[in-house]
Amino acid sequence: MTDDLPPVPAPDPGPEDAAPGAQPDPGYEYGERQIEDMSEVSFRVGEGRISGYVSIFLGALSVLSVLAYRYPTYLTTAELRASYDGEQLRLFLLAGMVFAVSFGLLTFALKRCKRMGALGVLLVVLAYVLGGWNVELGEIRHTQLSLGVDWFVLDLLASTILFVFIEKVIPRYPEQAVLRPEWQLDLGYFALNHLLIAFLIVIANGFAPAAFGWAVNEGFQGWIRGLPLLGQVLILALCADFVLYWTHRAFHEFPRLWPFHAVHHSAEHMDWLAGSRTHLVQTLVDRTLVMVPLYLLGTSEQALNLYVVLAAAQAVFTHANVGIPTGPLKYVFVTPQFHHWHHSSDQPAIDTNYAVHFPLFDRLFGTYHMPDQHWPIEYGTTKRLPRTFWSQLLHPFRQQAVITAAQAEAEAQSPSQSG
Ligand SMILES: [Zn+2]
Ligand SMILES: [Zn+2]
Repeated sequence: MTDDLPPVPAPDPGPEDAAPGAQPDPGYEYGERQIEDMSEVSFRVGEGRISGYVSIFLGALSVLSVLAYRYPTYLTTAELRASYDGEQLRLFLLAGMVFAVSFGLLTFALKRCKRMGALGVLLVVLAYVLGGWNVELGEIRHTQLSLGVDWFVLDLLASTILFVFIEKVIPRYPEQAVLRPEWQLDLGYFALNHLLIAFLIVIANGFAPAAFGWAVNEGFQGWIRGLPLLGQVLILALCADFVLYWTHRAFHEFPRLWPFHAVHHSAEHMDWLAGSRTHLVQTLVDRTLVMVPLYLLGTSEQALNLYVVLAAAQAVFTHANVGIPTGPLKYVFVTPQFHHWHHSSDQPAIDTNYAVHFPLFDRLFGTYHMPDQHWPIEYGTTKRLPRTFWSQLLHPFRQQAVITAAQAEAEAQSPSQSG
């Protein structure tokens, strides 16, 4: 789907809707992507910006962590609390505060970006005043809804360290800066999706039993649980991928759904953080529907947890700015090259590569596009979306009115055309 509205009533399949094959499109000239000059925002050792940003980053995470210890009922997620040891994590909090101060002081030593260093140190002072690494753990009461500050802090810290490292070591686009355009927007989406995790879990976990409780077969589930762990994970991934393939395809092919998904496609620079850009409605729909096969399969908890971790890592990895040679594995698993093509606005790639785990369903249903060694020239939507968080949140709802008006106009014109 492109953003050139009005797309209704359903037109004959045009070039955008034709499913390209796996081979390079002979009528299309593949080329090298040209990235705009990012030297202004690129990090260079000795300028103080690296230490300034690290200091602010760790200082801010320290403040959030101390608050999470103080108010766990409201700022942590019950599901996640079960998987970590809060007492051991105090060591990481202490290390974070020490590093934040050290990097803050380094900016002064370098006599560069002192304001950033000062802000980092001030954040650590605030974290210390609020209780520091020895902050007393607040009372934990049962509540269904809370903000996932713990999930936000832990995932942001781990993902930043891991993926910034990978993207620097094996980048697909070496000239793309870590702080590329719109990184703040994507960090906002990352924060929202993590803070609302409890809300998403309540809805997603509630839907499957309520709507599909009748379809549970205990004999079948017992057989599934008897399979080896990796077999269970493979079946989970295949079933989830089938559901996600069709959900994803529906978001592309139904004109009223596309504006919600266009938000994800509006990213014009791909990296590990860009994948966070999803409209709340789409996040909710995806998570709710993917829970249905997971619920019906009834695998062991170990298999389910392993699948969730692998799926989350693959989702981030496939958006990342990495040029890892994947060899024949790219025909088996969804790789960065495969998903980068999905995000491309290059003509042969539009409406292709919907799968999230294996390219299998794209091959089966005729939407596979993997032209050998080529990578996209352009990313983003064919028509630019608004560029702020709030305008993107409202964008799909505003588009509904545009689609309704276009439909009414098409209906008004159709009698005279047929006559
Ligand atoms: Zn898509
Ligand atoms: Zn994506």
